[in-house]
Amino acid sequence: MSIMGIGPNILGYANETVDRKVIEAIQMGNMSTFNCPEEVELAEKLVSMHHWADMAKFAKSGGEANSIAVRIARAATGKDKVAFCGYHGWHDWYLSSDIGTGTLKEHLFEDTGIAGVPKALAGTSISFVWNDLDSLKAVIDNHKGEVAAVKMEVTRNILPAEGFLEGVRDLCTNNGIVLIFDECTSGFRETFGGLHLKYGINPDLAVFGKALGNGHAVTAVVGRKDVMEGCNSTFLSSTFWSERTGFVAGLATLKEMERLKSWDVITAIGEKVQTIWERAADSTGVSITTGVIPAISTFGFTNSERSSEYRSYMTKELLKHNIVGGNLFFASTAHADVSLKEYEGLVTEIFRTIKKRELGDIGQLVDDKEFAGTTFRRLN
Ligand code: PLP
Repeated sequence: MSIMGIGPNILGYANETVDRKVIEAIQMGNMSTFNCPEEVELAEKLVSMHHWADMAKFAKSGGEANSIAVRIARAATGKDKVAFCGYHGWHDWYLSSDIGTGTLKEHLFEDTGIAGVPKALAGTSISFVWNDLDSLKAVIDNHKGEVAAVKMEVTRNILPAEGFLEGVRDLCTNNGIVLIFDECTSGFRETFGGLHLKYGINPDLAVFGKALGNGHAVTAVVGRKDVMEGCNSTFLSSTFWSERTGFVAGLATLKEMERLKSWDVITAIGEKVQTIWERAADSTGVSITTGVIPAISTFGFTNSERSSEYRSYMTKELLKHNIVGGNLFFASTAHADVSLKEYEGLVTEIFRTIKKRELGDIGQLVDDKEFAGTTFRRLN
C-alpha cells in the first residue's frame, strides 16, 4: 500500500507477462553491438500514442532522460537557460538552480545538499511558481532571449489553474522556448500515455520513465522532429541505452496496459484509497488533505507540526500487519479489493489513535529515532 518500488510497478510486482518477455530476451542475449528491433518498435509505439511527436530517444533513468531533454532543448535553440517548476532528478542542470538562491527548499528538501555542483552553473536554471503564469513570464522577461526550455510536470499534487497550461504553452511558443513536460511519474496514470493528453496541451518534448517498463529500466524522451534533431549536433550516447530488456519490457507493459485499460483500473483503485483515507479522517475527526491524481494518491495531515510523527506512526503500525504504507499510495492493477478492506480497518484504527494524541489523551506516538524524514516538497 505504498509506492510500488518508487512508482514503476503499475501492473503489480513481478508481472508474469512482462517478466516472461524479459526472461526470453535475456536468454537470447540482451546486449548486442547493434540496436535491437524492439527499440524501434517502442519508439514507433510511443510516437503513435502522442500524435504531436515524431521521434524518441531512450535512457535508463528518469533524471537522465530529463537531462537529455534539457540538452536537446539547449542544442536545438542555441540558448542556455532553463525555467522549471518541481522535481526533475539529481543532475547538475537542476541542482545548480539552488546556488545562491536556496530555491530547492520549495521544490525538493529544506536542506537539499548541492556540494559538487559547479558554482559556475549558477543562474542557468531558474525556478518559477506553480500555477503562477506571471512568475514564469518574469523569468522569461528577466532572461530575454536566453531561455531554452521550460520544464515542468503537467500536474502533481495541485491541479493546474484554468488557463495555466495554455498560458505556459503560449509563452513558450511566442518566445521560441522548448516546452518539456516531465511525465516520468504522471505518465500512464490517467491516460494511455502522457497526462497532457487529458488536458489537450502538447509539449515539444515529453519525458517518460517509471511505469513504462513495469520495473525494468527504460525511460524515454519523445518529441517533435525539429527539436529532437538537436540530438545531431551534440553528443548523447551510453553503452546501456541500447540494452534490450528495457525495450522488451516497455512493449510488453504498454500491451498489457492497453489490454487492461490500466489507467482506468488504477484511477478507480486510487479513488477507493482516497475515499478510505477521507472516511477514516471523517469518522475519527482527524484533518487531512488529499492529492489530485488518484492513481498516485497522497494525503497530508493538516497538523503540519505533527505530520512527521503521524506518518511515522502510520507506517510503524501498518508494518505490524506486514503492510508497507504511509501517506503515499501508487495504485497498480494488482491491488485487490480484499486488501483495501483490510487496509481500511487498520487506517481507521490508526487515525483513531492519532486523534487521541491530537486531543492530548496520549503522548508521542513513536520514539524520537523512529521519526520519518521529510518528503519531497515539489511545489506543483
Ligand atoms: N521527474 C519526476 C517528475 C520524478 O517524479 C522523478 C522521480 O521521482 C524523476 C524525474 C527522477 O527519475 P529517476 O528517479 O528515475 O531518475
